[in-house]
Amino acid sequence: RFDDIRPKIEQHIREVKDFPKKGINFRDIMPLFTNPQLVNELCVVIADHVRHTVGHVDSVAGLEARGFLFGPQVAIQLGVPFVPIRKKGKLPGATIEAAYIKEYGEDRVEIQQGSIKTGDTVFLIDDLLATGGTLRAASDLVVKAGGKVGEAFVIIELAPLNGRAKLPDIKLTSLISYD
Ligand code: AMP
Repeated sequence: RFDDIRPKIEQHIREVKDFPKKGINFRDIMPLFTNPQLVNELCVVIADHVRHTVGHVDSVAGLEARGFLFGPQVAIQLGVPFVPIRKKGKLPGATIEAAYIKEYGEDRVEIQQGSIKTGDTVFLIDDLLATGGTLRAASDLVVKAGGKVGEAFVIIELAPLNGRAKLPDIKLTSLISYD
């Protein structure tokens, strides 16, 4: 089913050179949202993939901000809670955090305490894998909360940046991989 939908999704990804700064080849997924039927189809296909190859999951966790475009829709398809993973300082109440190294300095991501329970299997989703720092931190966060990552899923993988190497302990699936 991924093979059927892949070319249609590819047609909706725009390449923007030198955004947000020189040297970055930005992959813009927003054109996909001009086609709501295709967005729905994609989220149904991802949910089917979870059912058939990942198995039971207790929640879907999405990464701020573009993981929020897909995560809740996949969670609704599966009938499980959606857990938002946000940059530090955005979520109210008690939180659990994990740090990761960015190009310049350190960044932190958080979940709300209690949103992932001991023994939970979590399906992680984001739009894109670049260096892998973001998904590494998200995965560490799931484990810190007592859960485990069933799978991490991205729409786009930028293969030359080798983000996969940062996630040797996680099953990682990408719909589209760019060289
Ligand atoms: P990383 O932590 O390096 O794997 O970066 C992944 C995060 O940064 C994802 O949440 C993406 O939305 C964003 N990102 C990084 N590089 C790009 C890119 N070339 N195009 C679009 N988004 C990107």
